[in-house]
Amino acid sequence: MTQEYALEIRNLKKYFRAGRPGWFSRFEKYIHAVDGVDLQLRRGEVVALVGESGCGKSTLALTLMLLEEATEGNILFEGRDITHISARERKAIRQRIQMVFQDPYESLNPTQTIEEIVTEPLIVHGLALDGNERRQRVLRALEDAGLKPAEDYLHRYPHQLSGGQRQRVVIAGALVLEPHILLADEPVSMLDVSIRAEIINLLADLRRTRGISVIFITHDLGTIGYFADRVAVMYLGRIVEIGTMREVLKKPKHPYTQALLSVIPVPNPRMRKKRVILQGETPNPIDLPSGCRFHPRCPMALEVCRQSDPALLKVTETHHAACLLLVK
Ligand code: SF4
Repeated sequence: MTQEYALEIRNLKKYFRAGRPGWFSRFEKYIHAVDGVDLQLRRGEVVALVGESGCGKSTLALTLMLLEEATEGNILFEGRDITHISARERKAIRQRIQMVFQDPYESLNPTQTIEEIVTEPLIVHGLALDGNERRQRVLRALEDAGLKPAEDYLHRYPHQLSGGQRQRVVIAGALVLEPHILLADEPVSMLDVSIRAEIINLLADLRRTRGISVIFITHDLGTIGYFADRVAVMYLGRIVEIGTMREVLKKPKHPYTQALLSVIPVPNPRMRKKRVILQGETPNPIDLPSGCRFHPRCPMALEVCRQSDPALLKVTETHHAACLLLVK
């Protein structure tokens, strides 16, 4: 039942060549930014994609936006394979998959009014709407992004708005194209803590009122609360754990997820858990560790973890479960 999904990602890989092309291709090295990701996004679903910086989550988003060409694997949008479509078809797909970037200060042109900024995507996509129709779409997008009454914002400039209002303008610029999917890349990390909840509530409303599916990318599990339906935890180009929000927050299985959760500040001292501080840096994505790629930092690693990768070898699923029992 492929149509149930807004987006399906099958064994997606995105590698970048490290350095200049060599004379002998077998000596060339690659950065394994995204390395075999499988993920399904249902219609109207919110999936949070969580991981440290450099884990590949932003590259994954750019590949899904077709701004980066996939090295291997498939991307299906509403059942249609869009992995290697023509430039003209890409433009049409980008109307339906929109991205909200992290920095509302950098994403807005300071010399344009809010009306010009939100109208621009309609012009770029060549939507032949008359002036009145365009203005109605812009007003609706601003209202849906929580800037009410929208008329009050049309003639303002970005510097006249707060950080939260600017991020709402960025979201309005995406909504004006009536997308089916929003890829929100760290949309609240540049905002004050007091405003973060407002933007998250806005995305939750958009899912409810417009039926938009959302991939919410963040390095901070603490920002999501219970807003997402599911959480996918990414480490070194792969999803290492995926489950419903409740499952992952209450009973994380993977040691990496456990470490991420243990450092979220909890106001109630009785609810606090022992903090797990991961040792060392994230390994170089050019020279990946052997076996389980998390083993150099895993507090539960056993000797077998150096040789076998739980994502690749069935036999290690038992081992992985056994490892997890050790810490309970
Ligand atoms: Fe840690 Fe071993 Fe599980 Fe990898 S396989 S996460 S190293 S316990």
